Amino acid sequence: MTLTWADLQLLAERASQQGFAESAFFRLSQPSARFQEIFAKYLSQKLHAGMNYLENPARMHPESVLPGAQTGMALLFPYRTQAGEIALRSAKQYRIARYALGRDYHKFLKKKMKQIAEGYNARGITDSAPFPERYYARLAGLGFIGRNGMLIHKEHGSYFFLAFILFPSELPNDVDNQIRELAHPDFMECGICTACLKSCPSSAILPGGLIDSEKCISYQTIEKKVPPVFQGKKHNYIFGCDICQQVCPYNKGIPLPKVAEEMQPTAISLQLLEGNTDLREDSLHGTALQRRKPEGIQSNAMQIDNLLNNKK
Ligand code: SF4
Ligand code: SF4
Repeated sequence: MTLTWADLQLLAERASQQGFAESAFFRLSQPSARFQEIFAKYLSQKLHAGMNYLENPARMHPESVLPGAQTGMALLFPYRTQAGEIALRSAKQYRIARYALGRDYHKFLKKKMKQIAEGYNARGITDSAPFPERYYARLAGLGFIGRNGMLIHKEHGSYFFLAFILFPSELPNDVDNQIRELAHPDFMECGICTACLKSCPSSAILPGGLIDSEKCISYQTIEKKVPPVFQGKKHNYIFGCDICQQVCPYNKGIPLPKVAEEMQPTAISLQLLEGNTDLREDSLHGTALQRRKPEGIQSNAMQIDNLLNNKK
């Protein structure tokens, strides 16, 4: 089956109605040899630290996500909110990465994708399947990869979630199918800027746009199963880190997007920003913070207190 231009238009309109800032279609094929080579180097150097799930070979085979998948729809969902920015500015104690201030995005983005693809044979994913999301979003023409490893859209910056709908259907023949990674090499749009490299507190950004996860505060505070070991300059992030996005010129001066209610900071996020780490067992349920259990957040906070007080 082939998706028609009318299908593409309908799907794009629905995406816009669901609050996605951008959408673009692309032909699904295996990631290029160049990407596979870079990713293999990343894994062989153990830059993924303890994130063993990244070694899953299915990552290079999109048909493992949806048998017969031929077309992808890449979607950008901005997550900054006015309330979140105000809360971060007045935070007394700790910081949380912007994306994690609200509800668990996996759930509500999946619902939105279901509504977009209603009536079609399709599968929606967002950080929920072995799929090199930034690679495909760039292939779809939604941005370039910056030195900080993020996908950057010239108009929307990098504060957005990526989501994808895969279809076991072809694109119309006359849809552009160029390999954009050749047309837009990594960092091309960074120019001479190195703000993210200079600002990363733990020097986790390596030349070449790879991130040393073991050093990255985001990995340390979210993925690492034992108390984090912070290296380098002081910071006060207890969940995630977005310093390398905050300093990026592409994120300056972007108007705050119209966002879903789900992205508004949760009461528990506001409580943590104030320094209150008194959490019940179910406190984080339904929030983006639930990837770390309450005792994990408390342990992160304790490490931050030690770091700020210069204790060993
Ligand atoms: S998320 Fe933070 S620690 Fe990780 S690379 Fe960016 S600035 Fe560095
Ligand atoms: S801060 Fe500068 S170097 Fe880093 S990703 Fe943004 S534009 Fe590129």
